Order: sequence, then C-alpha cells, then structure tokens
Amino acid sequence: MSVNRAQANPKSEGQLRERIPVSEPNLRGREAQYVSQCLSTGWISSQGAFIEKFEHAFGEFHQTQHNIAVSNGTTALHLALLALEVGPGDEVIVPTFTYIASVNAIRYVGATPVFVDCEPDTFNLAPDKLKACLSSKTKAVIAVHLYGHPCDMDAIAKVTGPKIPIIEDAAEAFGSEYRGRKVGSLSTISTFSFFGNKTITTGEGGMVCTSDENLAKKIRLLKGQGMSAERRYFFPVVGYNYRMTNVQGAIGLAQMESAQWFVDKKREIAKQYHSLLSNVPGVVLPVEKDYALNTYWMYSILVTDAFGVSRDELIKRLDARGIETRPFFYPTHTMPPYSGTGKNFPVAERISAQGLNLPSSTKLTAAKIELIAGAIRDCRSIK
Ligand SMILES: *Cc1c(COP(=O)(O)O)cnc(C)c1O
Repeated sequence: MSVNRAQANPKSEGQLRERIPVSEPNLRGREAQYVSQCLSTGWISSQGAFIEKFEHAFGEFHQTQHNIAVSNGTTALHLALLALEVGPGDEVIVPTFTYIASVNAIRYVGATPVFVDCEPDTFNLAPDKLKACLSSKTKAVIAVHLYGHPCDMDAIAKVTGPKIPIIEDAAEAFGSEYRGRKVGSLSTISTFSFFGNKTITTGEGGMVCTSDENLAKKIRLLKGQGMSAERRYFFPVVGYNYRMTNVQGAIGLAQMESAQWFVDKKREIAKQYHSLLSNVPGVVLPVEKDYALNTYWMYSILVTDAFGVSRDELIKRLDARGIETRPFFYPTHTMPPYSGTGKNFPVAERISAQGLNLPSSTKLTAAKIELIAGAIRDCRSIK
C-alpha cells in the first residue's frame, strides 16, 4: 500500500521528490465505471450482480468450480478451516514463515498450529521437513505460496497422502502456476486476499475456491450468518457475516479484466530487477523452480554478509533516498502468542533476518526500477 508517501525530509531536500512505495493499488480499468454503477443503482451492500460476476471471472481464470467471495483473506482462511471441520484437539501444519493470518485462523477454530520450516530458496514450506510434523491429530496442512512462488505441491501431497486435506493460502500468488496449473486450483480448498497491496485488489476482500460441492455449500452457509439457502431467516448453524459487498465485487470484476496484464507486469518487473541486480555481491535473487511460474508478488531478495551492509541498514539508506522497502515477516513461532514451543526453525530465522521486499508496484516504470537497483549498488559501497 502507498501508506508511506510522506516526504522523508522535504525541507532539507530542497525539492519535493516522490517516494517509491513497496506496492499500491492499480485501478487501471473499469473500476470507477463499475463502482459508479453501484452508487447510482443503490446496490452497495452484499447483494448485487457484481459479486457473482467477479466470482465467475475468478473461476474462469483459475479453472475452479466454486468461487465464494468473502470479506477478506483472513475470513477466507477461517471459513476454509470451518468447512473442513477443524476444531479443538486438531493440529494444522503451517509454515512458521508466513503472514500471521495463516496461523491466526487456526487459533480461531480452536486448533493447534504445528510449525514447519521453509525452503531456503523459495521460502515456502519444506516438504522434506513435513513428515516429522505429522501426527494422528493432523487435520490439515496450509500451504502458503509465499511472495508469488508456488509451493512444491506434489512433494507436499506425497508426504501428507490422500487423507489429509491441503489448504492453499494463495493470497500472495494470484496468477502463479504449478506445473502449468494456476495456484488455487491445486488442492481441496484455496484462499485468496484482495487487500490493497495484493496483485489484484478490492480494497479489502477475499475468495475461497474449491471443486467440492459440499464444501462450497458449507462455506456459503457460514459466510452469510448461517442462513439457510432454502428458508429465509432460518439458521441451522452459527454462522458469520463474512460477506463481500457489491462495491468490492465491482472493483474485483474490473481488476479481473486485467488479470493477465497484472501477471505479465509483475514478471516484467522481476525480469528487470534480475538483470540489474544479478551481479551485486551479497544480494541473493528470487528463484523460479522448473515446476513454477512465479508472479513475484513482492520482488524479494536476501541481503547476506557479502553485501557489506546489514539488511536493516540498507532499509534505512534506501528510505533516505525515498525508496520504501519491507523486511521479511518475522517467523510466527517468535511472535508472543505462538512462542515458547522450544523449537527452532533455522531456515525461517535466517531468511527472516536477511530478506527484503523491493518496490513491486505494477505502476513502476523501467526508469524507477533502474533508480532502485542503482541505489542498492550505491548503498553497498558507502561504508
Ligand atoms: C494478505 C495475506 C492474508 C490475509 O489477507 P487479508 O485480506 O489481509 O485478511 C493471508 N495470508 C497471506 C499469506 C497473506 O499475504
């Protein structure tokens, strides 16, 4: 999000320089037109044609049968776990290196998160460390496609077997592919987020996708206060208000009309960064495994000792030049609500300390990417 656009020090700068945000919404199509239709017709709440049209377009793009628009990516995860009937006494395996929402949702249903370490190059859940996490209580695995790179789904499924469902948290990987198939279509249930910094956005918003009709029915029931589809104001279960509004659906539909453009643009940005940063000592570039199409939601580098300046110092120096960056997530097992397990996750701990997300807005120009890459080189040489 372009939350940090204030000038660092405009007076001493002498001239106003525009800050480069890590990300920002790109409302490049019919967003305003569709939203104004909502306003002029009065269909601004959680009924209206745009929600269904957005769901339909999303399903066409992902080749997923049931696509259920919800209020955000966190409620999408909550609904996925509820639909799978995960509850107290159950364990859910989740990477410690993820955005906190993937883990919080497990707590919402009263289950216990069991952390797993990640791969050093993709930053995703490490399939070879999964086996040790399985127990008779394992009810599901959440595979998070981090920063745009898909998880190695076959390797994960090989360990979990057919009985343990996999939830894909695809919030950061819109349009990414695993062996030619879109993420979000690879497992029992998948979830997406359309927060303002995600590849496509509806401001706040989310989607749950599944090809299982029973699960889809449960999710639709639960997201709408538990009201029966057949009998109005009859509530067979305790539900939630996790609905998306028609205004969000309108923005989402317009964003979907540019879906391929967003994917292509993200990849183009990554290609430029790659060529400009490929020979900078101490900068480790993101990978794209042979099974993967990476959409580089955030172009993510590691800053190692060879760079000569610490990751945190680099953040400060870039900030002073008007370039906003973002440190990697803290591993969740080090956050107060989840600490104290006594376990170590060395890969997650290392990449968390070394990792940096560079500006990845689809509004970035080639000139700005050159400026950012140049600034990174400069920061290295200033001791
Ligand atoms: C953004 C994100 C979410 C949560 O989405 P919200 O829409 O912000 O609730 C969940 N998981 C991951 C990996 C995310 O990046």
